[in-house]
Amino acid sequence: MSTSHEPGALPGAEFVPLCVPYLNGNEWNYVKECFDTGWVSSVGAYVNRFEQLLAARVGVAHAVATTSGTAALHIALLVAGVTADDEVIMPSLTFIAPANAVRYVGAWPVFFDVDPQYWQLDVNAVATFLAEECVSKAGALYNRTSGRRVRALLPVHILGHPVDMAPLLELARQYNLVVIEDATESLGASYNGQPVGSLGDVACFSFNGNKLITTGGGGMLVTNHQPLAARARYLTTQAKDDPIEYYHSEIGYNYRLTNIQAAFGVAQLEQVDAYIARKRAIAAAYNAGLADLPGLQLMAEAPNVQSAFWMYTMLVDAERTGINSRELMRTLHTANIQTRPLWHPIHSLPPFAQCQAYRISVVDRLYRDALSLPCSVGLTEGQQQYVIDTIRRHVQ
Ligand SMILES: *Cc1c(COP(=O)(O)O)cnc(C)c1O
Repeated sequence: MSTSHEPGALPGAEFVPLCVPYLNGNEWNYVKECFDTGWVSSVGAYVNRFEQLLAARVGVAHAVATTSGTAALHIALLVAGVTADDEVIMPSLTFIAPANAVRYVGAWPVFFDVDPQYWQLDVNAVATFLAEECVSKAGALYNRTSGRRVRALLPVHILGHPVDMAPLLELARQYNLVVIEDATESLGASYNGQPVGSLGDVACFSFNGNKLITTGGGGMLVTNHQPLAARARYLTTQAKDDPIEYYHSEIGYNYRLTNIQAAFGVAQLEQVDAYIARKRAIAAAYNAGLADLPGLQLMAEAPNVQSAFWMYTMLVDAERTGINSRELMRTLHTANIQTRPLWHPIHSLPPFAQCQAYRISVVDRLYRDALSLPCSVGLTEGQQQYVIDTIRRHVQ
């Protein structure tokens, strides 16, 4: 683990990073095997194995490995039939990747609020929007304001916690919308006993460095629909119709994961249950250690879900704590503790200024108040106690 000091931090205290990979299994053995056998590129036994193991873990029939979670989202939108000038319903509070992917296919995100308790897409707001702001014409749904066809729901299970999927899936059925789950932050989470990633028509995972498991960089598209999986595999491999004649009947992409990365991923996936247990224990320890501070809203778990607690986050009510989230971030930084606010609300970023944002308020408050705390799988009890003690010293 890194003991380097960030600029401006006090020397002496060990640096506690926000969220770094934990590489204590077969990673090196499997990667070395790729080198020893020469299977280093985009074809190899580990790619198939990683796909099969992840599909089994998520409880879906098919998985297609990709170069990143963003690439998986791009392909998911294409195979789900989202086309130029369609609209896609998604939360404003998320990492930027799903919003960018919607634009890659020429479609437009419509941004929604999140609920104040679990911070996930506000499904009630989506229901109201579909009922009041949209109109059905010839079997398709149109947004009255923009005149565009509403094609897909893109719930993002942020920070490890599932979106309230049952009512969302009911809306999808009622309005004939396709559901693309962005499960990149929530591998290991489940909703009514079902793993996230198995609930929609197609779902995406990421294996970026800070995700629950990593391949350095990588992603996966999963689905129960064989034709969607076949099309995803085709599009991620340059839409090659004939491997000998190099015949391509449409535009494809080079989005394949390498065997080296997949080998890394297989080793990580072998340890995923232990990682989830650690994430849940870290969350429980923060919730216990900070529970009596009335100005902090700690991370919650809805009754019908199992959260993966991927990124432990709390809200800081500056009026009651006497310190706002950014001041607390800087104070913790001088104590060599890395923390981070949540993402800037996407609906107020320049590339998305023209997109519709439907009655958003909670997202703006979370952007102001949220702070994510160190929660690496390898975080020690001593480090976590140090973080808790340091927060307690500065929060009333
Ligand atoms: C990490 C992440 C992605 C995809 O990330 P990649 O870095 O492209 O693998 C997509 N959506 C969300 C919400 C994420 O957090």
